[in-house]
Amino acid sequence: MFDTLSDRLAATFKNLRGKGRLSEADIDATAREIRIALLEADVALPVVRAFIKQVKERAVGSEVSQALNPAQQVIKIVNEELVGILGGETRRLRYAKNPPTVIMLAGLQGSGKTTLAGKLGRWLKQQGHAPLLVACDLQRPNAVNQLSVVAERAGVAVFAPEPGNGVGDPVKVAEDSVVHARDKHHDVIVVDTAGRLGIDEELMRQAADIRDAVSPDEILFVVDAMIGQDAVTTAEAFRDGVGFDGVVLSKLDGDARGGAALSVAQVTGKQIMFASNGEKLDDFDAFHPDRMASRILGMGDVLTLIEKAEQTFDQQEAEKMAAKLQKGPKEFTLDDFLAQMEQVRKMGSISKLLGMMPGMGQMKEQINDLDEREVDRTAAIIKSMTPGERAEPTLINGSRRARIARGSGVEVSAVKNLVERFFEARKMMSRMAQGGGMPGMPGMPG
Ligand code: GDP
Repeated sequence: MFDTLSDRLAATFKNLRGKGRLSEADIDATAREIRIALLEADVALPVVRAFIKQVKERAVGSEVSQALNPAQQVIKIVNEELVGILGGETRRLRYAKNPPTVIMLAGLQGSGKTTLAGKLGRWLKQQGHAPLLVACDLQRPNAVNQLSVVAERAGVAVFAPEPGNGVGDPVKVAEDSVVHARDKHHDVIVVDTAGRLGIDEELMRQAADIRDAVSPDEILFVVDAMIGQDAVTTAEAFRDGVGFDGVVLSKLDGDARGGAALSVAQVTGKQIMFASNGEKLDDFDAFHPDRMASRILGMGDVLTLIEKAEQTFDQQEAEKMAAKLQKGPKEFTLDDFLAQMEQVRKMGSISKLLGMMPGMGQMKEQINDLDEREVDRTAAIIKSMTPGERAEPTLINGSRRARIARGSGVEVSAVKNLVERFFEARKMMSRMAQGGGMPGMPGMPG
């Protein structure tokens, strides 16, 4: 799912890479591309409009962040807006103060309610609850049986009408299940209700009757993500007919576009709480808007990296260093070398995240090569040098090397090695300074 959207957005961001500053025309072009991407992903038009308006306003008005390049800034804004339309903060289930907590499932027939009841049952059990699944779908001949089967697979209890006793009255079954749950110490009940192929009055009335009989703590509207734009109309009908507190997206595995997911929360103002992406009981999880947004952006943890880079990178240091190097390679001293290593070390804590950072290849290698102890050893050696030696390492001859080695408790060869590495680094730094900065390194003029 979201594959088309991800691809399109990735292409859009790629066009921004390497730009030093974004003009209004750049922002317009980017907004247009994002708009097409969203529409192609089947996101509802009003949602697209609002989204684009926000992104544009923020991109035009954004302060120039020192740590991020323009492409990163736009990614950051788009990400934050995506999280927003997906519902913002993760919302968790509300449990009743006096158990049992009643969770009622509502949705069209075939939306995946019964399957969801099993998944939710299993999930609740894993969270340490003792759930009871309640069969209130007495419409479909096989529904009760189907619920019993998923309950057994999930390893949770089921409550179904005894043959001949109250059959046909889902409201009574729901009421009885609450009493039964108290008796048998089930702290959560999941009520599976009947759906129809389309929205109809009777369906809504029955769901509303069950709702009034058991006052659910949560009514979850289950929607098949594969129905595309219809998801929005169906959601509106259920919102008006029964009302609901949260949304469950099912069959996310079946839709490459995912527009329904992006529209339902925004249009109904209710949060997506769970997502199902397969027929197996395990194909299910709590829904986190932030994680989903970064999945859509296809950038995994890049966003975390962007955040951390902003916090970590010392912009002033980077600028000072760049200015120095412009004057000539000799300006880069062993002190600078050490400072740079410390900077890389600081970023090392986020090295795992670097894998997917666009344009961070070079930095990543540096960090992978970085051995913590090596940094400490290097620091010790450099600190054993005189200020003169640090500023002008060509001074370091055989007898100075021996003195520095003694002072820092290392072999003479380690000192020699360090000085050689320093000259290598200096060469590289001055080449980069002439070439105009480090590509893709946040904060480095480039
Ligand atoms: P209900 O009528 O709302 O109770 O829907 P069901 O639970 O019976 O589901 C209808 C069909 O969708 C069944 O064949 C399920 O196996 C299938 N289904 C449910 N959830 C998912 C899902 O997340 N992914 C896929 N691919 N199929 C699902």
